[in-house]
Parts: sequence; structure tokens; C-alpha cells
Amino acid sequence: MKVPFSYQSLLRLYPNKENAIMFYKEQHMTYCPDCNTRLKRSLRKKNPLLLYCPECKKTISIFSDTVFHGTRADLRYWLYIGALFHFCKEIHPGIQITHLLSQKSIKQAIGASSDQTIRRIYTVLRRLFESTDYDDGIFRTLIFKPVADSLSTTTGY
Ligand SMILES: [Zn+2]
Repeated sequence: MKVPFSYQSLLRLYPNKENAIMFYKEQHMTYCPDCNTRLKRSLRKKNPLLLYCPECKKTISIFSDTVFHGTRADLRYWLYIGALFHFCKEIHPGIQITHLLSQKSIKQAIGASSDQTIRRIYTVLRRLFESTDYDDGIFRTLIFKPVADSLSTTTGY
């Protein structure tokens, strides 16, 4: 299967990394693991990935406890590959994603980037999309469904 939408169409939605992070922050709220306060304040203006809990004086990553935990890759790679997986799962629910989309076709669609990065993202997201865990399902719907929906509309699927 050819990729259903191009990486370029995702770049039109999120022209820079910060746009993607903003989208993620709107969709996914971060809570302090200690006092459960919803965190909104960035630790530093320059780093939107770290939030600060004024109660506990703790710093928490917006990616903590998610599949993005520890990633240094551009969030747009994640959003793109996740949107592809979501799209495939929607139209071919019974078929394994690996049979529909290969790492190779995704790598080609994204263009020049590290093989290792794409491989890691692919593996992590494949697992997420195969998971039957309730929270994983919520996360998929929250993050990747809206991206896939926007891309499908802009590209006419
Ligand atoms: Zn706290």
C-alpha cells in the first residue's frame, strides 16, 4: 500500500516543531504525578516540553508516561506515522499494520532522516496500535485521530 497522505501535507498543518508540540499540549493534559495538579506553566519559555508544578516545585515532561517518553525526534514524525497507522486501522481494521505499510515506504515518504529514528517510532507506535489497553486507545484517539482526520480531508480521502 502506498502511503495515503504525504509528509508534506503534514508539514502544511504543522510548519514547525513548535506547532506540533502546541497541538499535542492542547490534546493531552499533563498532571503532576505527586499532587495531581494539572500543569500549565512551562519551566522555561524556551523549552515547551517541561512543565513546572508550583505546589511540589517539580519539573515534569509533557511526554512523561506516554509513548513519546524520552524521544528526541521531531514530534511531527510521530504524528505522521501515528496518523498513517490510524488511517490504516480505520479502513482495514482486521489487517496488521505491518502488512499495509512498511517502514521502507514510510521512510521514503518522510525523506532524508535517520533510519534508526524511524525504526524506533514505527516499533513503538505499532505496539501502541496493536494494544487493547483502554488508556492506549484513549491516547490514540486523542492524538492521532485528529491528525489523520485533517490529513484525510486536505488530501481528499
Ligand atoms: Zn505537584
